[in-house]
Amino acid sequence: MKALDELTFDNRFARLGDAFSTHVLPEPLDAPRLVVASDAAMALLDLDPAVAETPVFAELFGGHKLWAEAEPRAMVYSGHQFGGYTPQLGDGRGLLLGEVYNEAGEHWDLHLKGAGMTPYSRMGDGRAVLRSSIREFLASEALHALGIPSSRALCVIGSDTPVWREKQERGAMVLRMAPSHIRFGHFEYFYYTKKPEQQAILAEHVLNLHYPECREQPEPYLAMFREIVERNAELIAKWQAYGFCHGVMNTDNMSILCITFDFGPFAFLDDFDAHFICNHSDHEGRYSFSNQVPIGQWNLSALAQALTPFISVDALKEALGLYLPLYQANYLDLMRRRLGLTTAEDDDQKLVEQLLKLMQNSGVDYTLFFRRLGDESAALAVTKLRDDFVDMAGFDAWAELYKARVERDGDYSQEHRRERMHAVNPLYILRNYLAQNAITAAESGDYSEVRRLHEVLSKPFEEQPGMEQYAQRPPDWGKHLEISCSS
Ligand code: AMP
Ligand code: MG
Repeated sequence: MKALDELTFDNRFARLGDAFSTHVLPEPLDAPRLVVASDAAMALLDLDPAVAETPVFAELFGGHKLWAEAEPRAMVYSGHQFGGYTPQLGDGRGLLLGEVYNEAGEHWDLHLKGAGMTPYSRMGDGRAVLRSSIREFLASEALHALGIPSSRALCVIGSDTPVWREKQERGAMVLRMAPSHIRFGHFEYFYYTKKPEQQAILAEHVLNLHYPECREQPEPYLAMFREIVERNAELIAKWQAYGFCHGVMNTDNMSILCITFDFGPFAFLDDFDAHFICNHSDHEGRYSFSNQVPIGQWNLSALAQALTPFISVDALKEALGLYLPLYQANYLDLMRRRLGLTTAEDDDQKLVEQLLKLMQNSGVDYTLFFRRLGDESAALAVTKLRDDFVDMAGFDAWAELYKARVERDGDYSQEHRRERMHAVNPLYILRNYLAQNAITAAESGDYSEVRRLHEVLSKPFEEQPGMEQYAQRPPDWGKHLEISCSS
């Protein structure tokens, strides 16, 4: 275990120089205080969880203090936002404080979001509000607990600093962690500003630090792009299988490591709805739930364009062609598991599609359906679940197919079936209304709810006695929350 002043820094991105980032100091928050910290994220830095309660913790992550070895930098990048190219974005309100490596030798970027203005703030104030900081914290840690790759969150620090959005709110900072904060948009920036030398430096940096195994391949950059395609296909398959809607899949929000990154108006589905749009400002539904799959490919094409100086167009196209089949294979594999199946049959895709159609038409709760399906034998579970469907005859027809499919799958005990299914079907997910309850309490100074919710979501597959209310479908008010981009 380490004390806070014992972190070891190795600021590899800062060393790339001023073409890549600008030195900026954090702007402190008034009266910084701990809202919530993640023990699991603390462990990644070998920190004793108890240090989160010390005043120096809130001072460090509220922008008042800095380690001598930290080199806070605002990174420059660009990106395609809602399909259109924005030539310059960058860390407008976040700073890469530095890179820390832990005792296991892993590097973690410490990125402080809401740290004040930078040269990339454009019209913004450089701040983040408590509400959005809590949402990012909860989502990062909840996704990780579900087994979905994501940036992590160490803590949220609240304050008295007034921040103006639609109304006056309070400023906060969230300390985000990831092995790298490089985005697709970094590559686009150097490509479109025609800076081949810097672009080559960036590509070497990413290859050496984050895709070292590709070095051994005959064409290392192509191998790296292929790996990025594959990892994206896997990531988005997980989003779709677990009902996660990112909301702002702009290329500047796509991590080069292919982890869930840059949380805005995200949502987990309550009722299954393929057309769900979680971002209130996304009028055309570009980033609707089902569009995440083709948008994943669109974003990879944008990255491919930026990599044309290094890789032939034909090779890039071929690699892009891997995305959809890989996505489909990954998705089907996950859905088979969610249905409790251990073998593969040709018609499984149809079985999944039919079920989702029935769920869509009846507004069935996406998470609870799968959890309940594993509670009992297939035959008993479907008789209990049929009441949730308006089209009962349709559901009965599906249930017959499912029961027969389970029969063919294997001869296992209900105990094994439940264990296997509950290990992949969460009971607790970050429903918007749960986040909202925690935020409302935190805004009035009570942080117990956000801490409890974080705790519950850190073990999403385990039934937790006394926490039944966190596994409920949303009340009516909670189904229609409008989450805007303003954060
Ligand atoms: P986002 O929609 O959060 O991914 O942000 C898009 C761009 O706007 C990024 O360059 C952000 O750094 C910047 N940005 C968002 N909010 C603010 C803010 N309040 N102040 C300064 N820059 C911001
Ligand atoms: Mg962003």
